[in-house]
Amino acid sequence: MNALSPPIQLDRERCKGCLLCLDVCPNDLIVMDNRPNLQGHFPVALVHADYCVQCRHCVDICPDQAFSLPRSAGLNWPGWVFHLSRGWHARKQP
Ligand code: SF4
Ligand code: SF4
Repeated sequence: MNALSPPIQLDRERCKGCLLCLDVCPNDLIVMDNRPNLQGHFPVALVHADYCVQCRHCVDICPDQAFSLPRSAGLNWPGWVFHLSRGWHARKQP
């Protein structure tokens, strides 16, 4: 991780592809990855991790500690703006 990396990190080599985390992200940042890892599992991937709201749902649900997020990570405003804007657009759908 460098200074510009988002605090949430996914270690795809720890992932066993159980997909428990797929539905817990409020911003739908977790998707299936069709490239196997070195263990032969098809892991998940993080997309647009800079929009992570740092809720820790993925960290808490993963049985294999594939996600990491420092306890010191505070609010991530771009992630919350994205989240609120998605909710607003969803409510505008007929
Ligand atoms: S910490 Fe929350 S917002 Fe960030 S990737 Fe995990 S579930 Fe999504
Ligand atoms: S919960 Fe953990 S092991 Fe399961 S798919 Fe998600 S990252 Fe992989």
